[in-house]
Amino acid sequence: MTTTDPLLLYVHIPYCVHKCHYCDFNSHVRDHHDWDAYQQALLTELEQWSKQPQFSGRQLQSIFFGGGTPSLAPSALIASVIDAASYLFKTTSDIEITLEANPGTVDQSHFAGFRQAGVSRLSIGLQSLNDGELKWLQRIHSGEQAIGAFTAAREAGFENINLDLMYGLPDQTMEEWMESLNRAIDLNPEHLSCYQLTVEAHTKLAAEIDKVPDPLPDDDLALQFLYKTRERLAEAGYEAYEISNFSRPGLKCHHNDGYWLYRDYIGIGAGASGKWDHLGEMADGGVTRYSNIRNPEKYMESVESVGSAINSDEVLLRDTAAAEALWQGLRRTGGVSDQWFSERFGVGIQTLFGDELAPWLERHQLIWEGDRLHLTDEGLPFADSISEELF
Ligand code: SF4
Repeated sequence: MTTTDPLLLYVHIPYCVHKCHYCDFNSHVRDHHDWDAYQQALLTELEQWSKQPQFSGRQLQSIFFGGGTPSLAPSALIASVIDAASYLFKTTSDIEITLEANPGTVDQSHFAGFRQAGVSRLSIGLQSLNDGELKWLQRIHSGEQAIGAFTAAREAGFENINLDLMYGLPDQTMEEWMESLNRAIDLNPEHLSCYQLTVEAHTKLAAEIDKVPDPLPDDDLALQFLYKTRERLAEAGYEAYEISNFSRPGLKCHHNDGYWLYRDYIGIGAGASGKWDHLGEMADGGVTRYSNIRNPEKYMESVESVGSAINSDEVLLRDTAAAEALWQGLRRTGGVSDQWFSERFGVGIQTLFGDELAPWLERHQLIWEGDRLHLTDEGLPFADSISEELF
């Protein structure tokens, strides 16, 4: 890792029209949004981070507006953050600028505004194209509206669009899932993210789901969803470059791939988090992580009074950082390069984690191919379980 490694910028927009019952993101419903104040807080944070030695002189490779619902924000706010980031940091010539959009909040003129602001890539949260499923998910849009949003985005000039879809919904059949997936493929997006619904603790869904007997797919059916999704998307010409992410050749999401490659990132906005590798005098192989105050009003108050809104930070020592980097990197189809790992952490993968990884290699869930360690098809469903062994 050197100071020339590219940097990622994440910008959190914490508002939604309605809180979906399965959602555990930092999203809040408000009658009124003080966008001017929120924009000012984002710009203040950005300026503060640009002065920090761990980030100075680094090139921004991507900016990602996530939420919440970033498509609720005025395009002027999006433009001001992009302009300030470009002014305060160096940027790569092919910088990727993504904005997440909810189909219930956008039309062609919104999309045109975001395009003009400098957004180059959209990620549209379809989740499903089945109206019954969308209603159960408590989404604010129908399948037709979702298709309309995609068409409007194309008309506004977006040539790089991701569609988010979700499978494994209660009582969902494979046929129903395939119908949504096929309709999404028919739109010919450049990228698809297909995740299994997970019931996160402390969501409304977690409380409700206990009242329904076995509504979610069992492990066998969940595996069938995973493998059938990969098979269908491969047939349609999409490359699986991560467990849940598929793209046309060369059009993966560089921002998310940067997280899996353990790159440094700055997070600004309510609840955003960031991370940097220790460099210079601190070069001990570890990393520092931080996260911001989650409540939007308290976040803005804090930035206004002290210039930042860090709620917590922690230092991960080398072995913990190495475990995290390995676990995240194994989500990628290409896995983790032992040469990169050795240069970054000063020790090889086998030396540090040989005992923990041995059973996975014996069961053929992990495999070495040349310099790279990666999951096999049989190992894909167990990516998260590996983390329990490493930490
Ligand atoms: S739209 Fe997305 S961020 Fe907002 S509540 Fe629903 S799932 Fe959460």
